[in-house]
Amino acid sequence: CGIVGILGTSEVAGRLVESLQRLEYRGYDSSGIATIQNGRVDRRRAVGKVAALCDLLDMDPLDGQAGIAHTRWATHGVPNETNAHPHHAGQVAVVHNGIIENYAGLREELIEQGINFASDTDTEVIAQLCNSYLNAGSTPFEAVQQTLQRIHGAFALCFLFEGEDDLMICARQGSPLVVGYGEANEATGRREMFVGSDALALAPMTQKIAYLEEGDMAVLTRSGVDVYDRAFQPVTREARQLKLDA
Ligand code: GLU
Repeated sequence: CGIVGILGTSEVAGRLVESLQRLEYRGYDSSGIATIQNGRVDRRRAVGKVAALCDLLDMDPLDGQAGIAHTRWATHGVPNETNAHPHHAGQVAVVHNGIIENYAGLREELIEQGINFASDTDTEVIAQLCNSYLNAGSTPFEAVQQTLQRIHGAFALCFLFEGEDDLMICARQGSPLVVGYGEANEATGRREMFVGSDALALAPMTQKIAYLEEGDMAVLTRSGVDVYDRAFQPVTREARQLKLDA
């Protein structure tokens, strides 16, 4: 199972799928991608090989310069298209590797508030919870913080938000996650930014990598990344230049 995210300066769907193929060695039962286009989340998901997702995208392409992608190893909910990631609730799209141990109680609480769940996964509580904080007036940054304070278990997460095409927020606890830096544009200082379960997944796109540490949350824009530790204090995670076979 694996995660990839790209804040691009050109189309991302093809590159997301290529990166998923580089994560296939980890094993998975389904895969999917979501992008932001015209401020809205759109997604494609497929059971089986990443090749099945490729076929789907050939028939029904997905535009967008910001996107997240996932290979799933089902823990909660059978491997089918509905349970495949990314999960989408209101303004939030999220991919997740790991297990949310207290999902059942959170799910009950959200259902009592009148929220309808589309899937049987533990992951969907993350999307629904985060969206409910946004609906209550939180910024995406605050909503992710509030969500992280409620969930227990192991996770690597990557979020996109409707109406925000220059924002990707990720977090890790018990599952690895790296941040990759694209080449900066000399005139604007802006660059593509990447997130991945490992550096290998990103190797053809960038090998300038910062490793997130346990409990870290990272806020990415095309201007760079701000990282916070588990107490939500700003921290520095030095990027290094790797030399991998791409
Ligand atoms: N627990 C989540 C699910 O079953 C994520 C599984 C994974 O790590 O791929 O959907």
